[in-house]
Amino acid sequence: MTTMTDVVVVGAGPNGLTAAAELARRGVSVEVFEAEGTVGGGARTEELTLPGFRHDPCSAVHPMGVGSPAFAGLPLERFGLRWLHPEIPMAHPFPDGSAAVLARSVGETAMSLGAADAPRYRRLVSPFTGRWDALAEDFMSVPWEGLPRGPLTLARFGAVGLPPVSWLLRRFSDEKAKALLAGLAAHVISPLSTPATGAVALVFALAAHERGWPVAAGGSQAVSDALAGFLTAQGGRIHTGVTVRRLDELPPARAYVFDTSPTAMARIAGLGDAFRRFRYGAGTFKIDYALSGPVPWRSEAARRAGTVHLGPTAGEVDSALRAAVGGRAPEVPFLITSQPTLVDPGRAPEGKHVFWAYGHVPNGWRGDLTAAVERQLERFAPGFGDLVLARAVAGPPQLAARNANYVGGDIACGAFAGVQALFRPGPARDPYRTPHPAVFLCSSASWPGPGVHGMSGRNAAKSVFLHLAGRR
Ligand SMILES: Cc1cc2nc3c(=O)[nH]c(=O)nc-3n(C[C@H](O)[C@H](O)[C@H](O)COP(=O)(O)OP(=O)(O)OC[C@H]3O[C@@H](n4cnc5c(N)ncnc54)[C@H](O)[C@@H]3O)c2cc1C
Repeated sequence: MTTMTDVVVVGAGPNGLTAAAELARRGVSVEVFEAEGTVGGGARTEELTLPGFRHDPCSAVHPMGVGSPAFAGLPLERFGLRWLHPEIPMAHPFPDGSAAVLARSVGETAMSLGAADAPRYRRLVSPFTGRWDALAEDFMSVPWEGLPRGPLTLARFGAVGLPPVSWLLRRFSDEKAKALLAGLAAHVISPLSTPATGAVALVFALAAHERGWPVAAGGSQAVSDALAGFLTAQGGRIHTGVTVRRLDELPPARAYVFDTSPTAMARIAGLGDAFRRFRYGAGTFKIDYALSGPVPWRSEAARRAGTVHLGPTAGEVDSALRAAVGGRAPEVPFLITSQPTLVDPGRAPEGKHVFWAYGHVPNGWRGDLTAAVERQLERFAPGFGDLVLARAVAGPPQLAARNANYVGGDIACGAFAGVQALFRPGPARDPYRTPHPAVFLCSSASWPGPGVHGMSGRNAAKSVFLHLAGRR
């Protein structure tokens, strides 16, 4: 006699693995099917360039991971996850060699923004410091389900964060503070006038002060391997190298959970045009470099930072985002870069480094942004080009080929725009449910959205659990 699996999960990214782990630890039988040969989705590590250089093709830096209530609730350290913190979480250098820094300490950050803006920055973050646990739980869970843990803090957070980040920038007079906050908001790849981008800037700043912006020792694959290790220890089973195309290819189960795009889920589960209103955002152009030495930043702070943002004014950051969202490749891209070998030298041969950089381009764009990316790098790190031993370049088509969730190269699996900025995949009391009572969505297309934090997975698992218990 065969026994029916309780839950099948499609996709072994951080959210699929977290959903599976949360269910398995409650005694639910779970099987995971992953298209690629290894688990991880957007949290992987590979030798993309030369032997001995271990790159993170997708996520590298994990403020939301180290600060995630979902990950905090799982014993991931026992399964090999170790966070490594750079001296400075993030530096935002300027062409003259100075920099704004997002440091662990609020004071050091404020000081880097200039005398006039330092007290304004302190006033911005002080109502929230020391309250990360409640804020992250309230902000990253389904906000309209249950009472918030810190209602006052959440209300204050909403008041500051719901308007566009461009409103927040008006509080500051110096370009340093404006550029720093613009760069933080730019992580969601939307113009600075987009509602709720204030929350994005604030949450990344608070994460630095409260938890840091670490990398995972050995590479981001360690996050996924720890989740998979815990899942299998709970009896969960993982099948890799299986691209799921139809629901009836899967073993019979009481629920199916999709760590995929809503479009793919609708196609596989026969949900018709249930997600026709769902919109994908701009694409990404990513380069992984093998370098013969550390990046020769003009700014001393940038040489000590795990992450470096390149966009010297808020106006320049906004122009680059507007171009990509509006269908044009930016002439001067805003770059997010990461230098993991500063704190994790074992990822490259002795004395050598891996370096990671990306900018934004239109969805589905087929051009080559390499020259523009490297011009921008040379502007802040003259001589960068001389250190390049090898590069692995991935524009939207390559990113989409690597992971079906990156539709048109949209690494967020859904635009941060309109109603989707607040409700993912759309307005619903339970955003993880679908028109099919046994089919659930758990990818970053669902609330709270992109990032390696597993919260969509944890929230979806809660919804699935209620379904299995017959309470929905
Ligand atoms: C270039 C880049 C840089 C990034 N940088 C960061 C960063 O520094 N920090 C951070 O926190 N986040 C970062 N992200 C975002 C982060 O990687 C994602 O938000 C996160 O991985 C989303 O997790 P997920 O589980 O929802 O989906 P994914 O991680 O995308 O996983 C989905 C999985 O489902 C599988 N799948 C899809 N369709 C099928 C199918 N039909 N059958 C079987 N399997 C299927 C895919 O192969 C994949 O393994 C970055 C992403 C990219 C691409």
